[in-house]
Amino acid sequence: MIIGKIGENEKSIRFELDLNCSNCKKKVPGGMKCSEKFYQSKSFDKQILDFKKNYLCGICRDKKRIKKKINS
Ligand SMILES: [Zn+2]
Repeated sequence: MIIGKIGENEKSIRFELDLNCSNCKKKVPGGMKCSEKFYQSKSFDKQILDFKKNYLCGICRDKKRIKKKINS
């Protein structure tokens, strides 16, 4: 998964995040990628926090998608 934007000629960094699904609390290993510049920026921590807060595992994401279809 990519956090933020990586420009064409920008160096990217790979890192691991401890992710928990915000719905079922299942642990999901998160291999993440972002640009080197962004990794050192202040908004990085905030984005990671937001990302963690809203993270859904594959199963919950599918459920949500199906629910949406039924409701619409
Ligand atoms: Zn889940």
